[in-house]
Amino acid sequence: MRTGIYIRVSTDEQVKEGFSIRAQHERLNNFADSQDWSVVDYYIEEGVSAKDTKRQELNRLMKDIEDGKIDVVLVYRLDRLTRSVRDLYELLDFFERYNCKFKSATEVYDTTTAMGRLFITLVAALAQWERENLGERVRMGQERMIEEKQYPGGPPPFGYSYNKDTKQLEVDPVEAKVVEKMFDLYFDGFGEQRIADRLNEQGYKTRRGNNWRAKAVRDTLKRTLMTGEFSWGGNMYNDYTDAIIPKERFESAMKLRTSRRGAHPRTIRSSYPFSGFARCARCGAPMKGHSKHGRKKLDGTAPFYRTYICTRKRDGCTSKQINEESIDRELLKEIRKLSSEYREISEDKSLIKREDDHTQELKQLTRELNKVQGRRKKWQVAYAEGVISLDELRSHTEMDQEALSNLKMYISKLESKSMQLDYRSMANVLADFERNWIELDHMEKKSMLSMLIKSFDVDSDDLKPHKARERKVWVSNVEFH
Ligand SMILES: [Zn+2]
Repeated sequence: MRTGIYIRVSTDEQVKEGFSIRAQHERLNNFADSQDWSVVDYYIEEGVSAKDTKRQELNRLMKDIEDGKIDVVLVYRLDRLTRSVRDLYELLDFFERYNCKFKSATEVYDTTTAMGRLFITLVAALAQWERENLGERVRMGQERMIEEKQYPGGPPPFGYSYNKDTKQLEVDPVEAKVVEKMFDLYFDGFGEQRIADRLNEQGYKTRRGNNWRAKAVRDTLKRTLMTGEFSWGGNMYNDYTDAIIPKERFESAMKLRTSRRGAHPRTIRSSYPFSGFARCARCGAPMKGHSKHGRKKLDGTAPFYRTYICTRKRDGCTSKQINEESIDRELLKEIRKLSSEYREISEDKSLIKREDDHTQELKQLTRELNKVQGRRKKWQVAYAEGVISLDELRSHTEMDQEALSNLKMYISKLESKSMQLDYRSMANVLADFERNWIELDHMEKKSMLSMLIKSFDVDSDDLKPHKARERKVWVSNVEFH
């Protein structure tokens, strides 16, 4: 394997023991030797940080990979290559495209183990999450897109289609007719449910070919985009696209809504980030998001709570309503706990041993294991041929049995030792997750969770409703994909 060795030290690290260029150089050369790889070139970056991929030597390495000169990139540690999950994801992608392997001399990325898979999933999920415009930087980019009247992604709202060439929205003539019809019916005094019923009676379908529901009608009636304006990130962009409904007409519909409903408090209808993930710890049923008003205050306003309820509550489940904030806080605590557990394991000095030593030892032990297993057969043959007695066979078999179980124990111990470096990466990834989490809104949290987590259990103690705010909440059994 033609090996490209990439070495990097930042300015602060140059003074630290074990990180010097010489130390990395020596270590990586030994590693390449042990694998029988031939080193083609060294790419050495001194006093350079890994905050982005604009690095001279890294770019030279990538060029050589493109030119097919390198079969494997070897680094001392993953963070030599990059500290950004997104860059990591893109680099790994790049390597794969050019059929170039990637190896960290001190870390194990093994997709055949659960830990390795979890790690890769997390890395990929975080990268995807960053790419899917949830990060602040990308959000800035989106703002620019919107100023240029481009659509930032996702399915276009009903009434519009997406033009791949201009990246802009266009009025979809067929769907626009349905939108106009909704507004007509609304002005005729129809409510949202009756509009939906009428559309269904007349054979109109949603874009996916389903029947209309009140909620979808309401969303369309309230969407300012129908006037050609785009509301995004708290700003309103005028003349974003062509209007389906003239602005005056749209505004009268809004007024009509207010008068019809009285001073109905604005409902918060954003999605519930934990529904679909939270499970009732008492009965295992899914927990459902739910909004409710608290007691009215003196000034007439009422606080708004977002809570989760077990979907089997009506069937007699005894679990209580749980505050969304509490779940958020406890879930994050669980993640933090996991992260520090991983970090502890990774820093446990008694476990630290050079990975290539493990590899050698493992090979040795496996060889012995095979020998012992082979020997057993021989004794059996010897007994069958009358060379040894039954007693002799038994005592040999017993000895071998013991040797066998000892060997197996050693092997599994060693395997778990070489895992401990993976734990450090895991801890880092989880810490990243935690840092990013607090920046997200409900929808973003939901999409983040859907990439990472299968489910988790929630429970709380049985306080009376008026003491609900003092309730202790537990999150447990967090299951990752
Ligand atoms: Zn329940």
